[in-house]
Amino acid sequence: MVEVHPNVEYVMLTGQQITRRVKMVAKQLDKLYEGRKPVVVCILKGSVIFFSDLIRNMKTPLTIDFMAVSSYGNGTKSTGELTIKKDLATDIKGRDVLIVEDIIDSGNTLYNLKKLLNARAPASVNIVTLLDKPERREVPMEPEYTCFVIEDEFVVGYGLDYAEEYRNLPYVGVLKRSVYENA
Ligand code: 5GP
Ligand code: MG
Repeated sequence: MVEVHPNVEYVMLTGQQITRRVKMVAKQLDKLYEGRKPVVVCILKGSVIFFSDLIRNMKTPLTIDFMAVSSYGNGTKSTGELTIKKDLATDIKGRDVLIVEDIIDSGNTLYNLKKLLNARAPASVNIVTLLDKPERREVPMEPEYTCFVIEDEFVVGYGLDYAEEYRNLPYVGVLKRSVYENA
């Protein structure tokens, strides 16, 4: 039994559930990229655990790269603007790009990121996300692959943080409200 962090209200997805699903999605991606060599892009920092598990379950030859972006300006509300904090080192012109994201909420981040990457003339851009909260969408954004559709709760763990903490929890859990209400 995994010990649950005292600040976690409940475990939404166990490590075992995630592992099983990630393996399934990796197989689907292998099929999609058969005969090709995609560049798999980890969107830092939240995707790092998902990304590591996903690529280790893919048999397709691939290269990896990292990008850090933010569509949150100074406030907590997602805006239309995208700030690149760390750009790709790879020239993606003519490449098949697979963006690996932790969670899609308003959709603003990926909507803008996809537009930005498409301007660099890649052969294709696909998105795989660990989690999706479709209820909260503000812009049209349909990821090609989703591991889990979840209800509108603030979750942490398996890469996802609250104030940079909890990324190392081996499951996805709902944070106790008292943690951010007293912050
Ligand atoms: P959006 O789709 O609204 O542009 O932004 C998605 C980003 O918001 C994610 O990459 C993540 O950083 C953050 N986010 C949205 N919902 C949650 C959540 O429930 N938990 C955590 N830890 N981050 C979230
Ligand atoms: Mg993120």
